[in-house]
Amino acid sequence: TRSPRARRLSILGATGSIGQSTLDLVARQPKEFEIVALTAQNSVAELARLAVKHNAAYAVIGDATRFAELKSLLAGTSVKPAAGPEALVTAACEPADCVMAAIVGAAGLEPSFAALAQGSRLALANKECLVSAGSVFMAEVERQGAELVPVDSEHSACFQLIGTGEPSAIEKITLTASGGPFREWSRERLEKATREEALRHPNWSMGAKITIDSATLMNKALELIEAYHLFPVEPHQLSAVVHPQSIVHCLVAFADGSVLAQLSEPDMRTPIALALSWPARMQAPTKRLDLAEIGQLTFEPPDEDRFPAMRLAREVLARGETAPAVFNAANEIAVEAFLAGRIRFLDIARSVENCLEQADRAGVIAPAACLDDILSIDHEARRLAAIALERLS
Ligand code: NAD
Ligand code: MG
Repeated sequence: TRSPRARRLSILGATGSIGQSTLDLVARQPKEFEIVALTAQNSVAELARLAVKHNAAYAVIGDATRFAELKSLLAGTSVKPAAGPEALVTAACEPADCVMAAIVGAAGLEPSFAALAQGSRLALANKECLVSAGSVFMAEVERQGAELVPVDSEHSACFQLIGTGEPSAIEKITLTASGGPFREWSRERLEKATREEALRHPNWSMGAKITIDSATLMNKALELIEAYHLFPVEPHQLSAVVHPQSIVHCLVAFADGSVLAQLSEPDMRTPIALALSWPARMQAPTKRLDLAEIGQLTFEPPDEDRFPAMRLAREVLARGETAPAVFNAANEIAVEAFLAGRIRFLDIARSVENCLEQADRAGVIAPAACLDDILSIDHEARRLAAIALERLS
């Protein structure tokens, strides 16, 4: 039997790394949660398995051609199947106490926005959504009276560190970066970095896209923009430091010289648990932090010659308007091309920079007022990014 306090939870992107970690926590405390909708794009068998296991009300597959398959997998169960992009949006709107937005990329824009319409909690892992739609997204959070809790580990840390303190007392926010698998690689070696090498992250086990973003440091660049929208600071108050052990996730410096940091083992179940239970705290079965065993925590500045991502993020924030949407779209296209073996590792940052220049010249970077504006800029940026890629090859 379910606890009377059971929270209704939907997960957009349930079959991914964040989705599965969320369901792992749910499975350990099944009485505390009632699963409303689970969604996925292509992994129909996995989606059906999870929906049945967690007794979800709805299972929704983004790829409409997989509907028959989903329906037959769910035959004889109480899970209702649905398919297609509109069904993802409908699922996001089903009444719930919390929606976990864990779709990867700007593909999550429409469902993540739709989830805000209920005015309950949005646990946001889908950072590309906030990077791309930025102030339009934050305005919608406000308009709908939704509660936004970040899932990204650095932002979850910052969210806790800032607490209810006075925004004007915050001097600086520092996000940590693991440095990824290529932290110590020379530029010459990076020229030849392969897909397999880039996919081997030293500390975190995550989806393919964010793993490549960690290798290019584009992940930290996206996170800088994400932090800009989530927290009451100006761009010059945001920075990143490389911390290879991934134990400290964020540091916040205050006007009196005090610096607070959040520490935990690198396991996404800690920030996910916080997003599900805040302001309470729930059990998460992660390895407990033992500093004596770890011995050393080290920090170093990011090298912007080998990894230009952070510089690009600052330029994009300074340019404002829809520059971040173009930046995000160009990066998504470049990562896709790299994963498909069509471009080399260093071409990712090159093509993103190229695309930003093209877009600015073509007048694509302009103010945006609503989600439709963002969607059309995202679309146009993808077209320009494809052209920027052809130039490289
Ligand atoms: P993943 O690739 O493992 O999973 C992505 C999920 O989204 C899957 O369920 C997939 O079916 C679904 N999906 C993919 N394309 C889709 C589309 N076009 N339409 C609808 N659904 C689609 O990704 P992940 O690593 O779980 O990351 C999810 C999000 O969380 C990303 O934005 C990522 O940056 C962020 N994030 C992830 C981690 C991590 O540890 N994995 C940490 C911090 C932030
Ligand atoms: Mg992160």
